[in-house]
Amino acid sequence: MSAFREGTQSACANTSPLHEATPSYAFSVLATLEAAGAESWIVGGFVRDALMGRAATDVDIATVAPWQEVRAVCKAAGFATHQTGVKHGTLTVVPDGTHAVEVTTYRADGAYTDGRHPDHVAFLNSIEEDLQRRDFTMNAMAWHPARGLLDPFGGQRDITAGIIRVVGDPERRFTEDALRILRACRFASQLGFSIDDATFTGMVRNKFRLAQVSTERVTHELDALVIGEWVHDALMRCVDVLAFVLPELAAMKDCDQITKWHIYDVLEHTAYTVQHAPAERLVRWAALAHDMGKPAAAFFDADGVEHFYGHAAVGARMARGMCERLLMSPTFRTDVELLVRRHDDVIEPTARGVRRALMRLDGRVELFRALLALKRADTLAHSAEGAKRATLIDQLEEVLEQVLGDDAAFSVRDLRVDGCDVLSLGVPEGPEVGRRLQAALDAVVDERIPNEREALICFLKSLDATPCNP
Ligand code: ATP
Ligand code: MG
Repeated sequence: MSAFREGTQSACANTSPLHEATPSYAFSVLATLEAAGAESWIVGGFVRDALMGRAATDVDIATVAPWQEVRAVCKAAGFATHQTGVKHGTLTVVPDGTHAVEVTTYRADGAYTDGRHPDHVAFLNSIEEDLQRRDFTMNAMAWHPARGLLDPFGGQRDITAGIIRVVGDPERRFTEDALRILRACRFASQLGFSIDDATFTGMVRNKFRLAQVSTERVTHELDALVIGEWVHDALMRCVDVLAFVLPELAAMKDCDQITKWHIYDVLEHTAYTVQHAPAERLVRWAALAHDMGKPAAAFFDADGVEHFYGHAAVGARMARGMCERLLMSPTFRTDVELLVRRHDDVIEPTARGVRRALMRLDGRVELFRALLALKRADTLAHSAEGAKRATLIDQLEEVLEQVLGDDAAFSVRDLRVDGCDVLSLGVPEGPEVGRRLQAALDAVVDERIPNEREALICFLKSLDATPCNP
């Protein structure tokens, strides 16, 4: 063993969480490689999460053996293998027919001319050099059940202190790969860690390089960030960096809200709203976007009170633009836009009020539940005065359950008539058919007529002033 390795090995580290967390299938890959003479370690995120006591799933192994040798040894042991990234030295091994372990040859990354991918990788003989190419100290540790923890950059110390710190010089590491900038923001949100000052300065100075990162990678990191457990703190800390990929945030920062309902500027109110929302992708993104329209809609009245009339409509358009830019799916874009558009709607806590609100969401109950979750989170992110309105959401949830129990109609699909009925009354094919069905639904939701076929046909005829019983 090299002097360097002995010097950096963490003799007093309590690695029992690693023993406990490591699944037996990962041990069997490690043992198989070592029995064939190939030094191998468990590395990266798995080591970090296990030391933190977080549920860790994907196991990565780093090995001195080239991938062809890994494949031969694993095949001889009866393990399935897949050549998932052999260009970069990665072979996926499935030792038990179910669980995959990524085995990667020790490597150093060559120059990054595109700021994203190494132009070439060099395979190495030393785990220490392999750890050196990794992004953050907490991700640059290796563990072996017999040899212990290898922690050359103080990853354990930083985990204990809750600090995200780049391995080496921030300027160089973010120049090599700008995705690391967003990974830092995302880890801050997932782990609740602060970002070391020099690392943060490097992130801000190199944020312009995010223009070189593919949109898919950006969105992947942002998705993880918005559902993070410490998303409020991460948004507040990282806003100046995130604004490069979410420019909508820039105007929200320092946009005051001079009303009795608010105590935060739009950005901090938004950060709290996201934090209070359940950790689900749709409602969290809608929470992030819900007040994006406020800076554009803001004005003061003669008494110096600020108003944001129309901000939901402006915000809905901005939310759509954001989702399109981030290449989110068409359904997701529409749903975020709809939630933002409706987030400030007043909904009466009555069966009729809830049915009408459901109708505006095309009868989609799950979207209505997401809207209530958004409204609740929004309310909780107000001043104490504003937060009192959370009881209204409780009432709305109760009424929703009653309405669902009543089997009421709140979408044209629920009506006991359809387009064919409208056509058979002599209405020509075209948008008028939908308009008449919508008029019938309005009447049912308002309880002017029951959702019964005869009454509906009668109503549809009445639209042409045709008597019901000629
Ligand atoms: P998670 O799996 O929770 O997203 P992770 O740290 O395991 O977190 P992976 O993308 O699975 O992240 O990467 C595995 C390891 O590879 C990391 O822990 C880190 O050591 C290294 N790594 C990943 N991406 C980079 C990068 N862009 N630059 C440098 N090292 C990286
Ligand atoms: Mg991982």
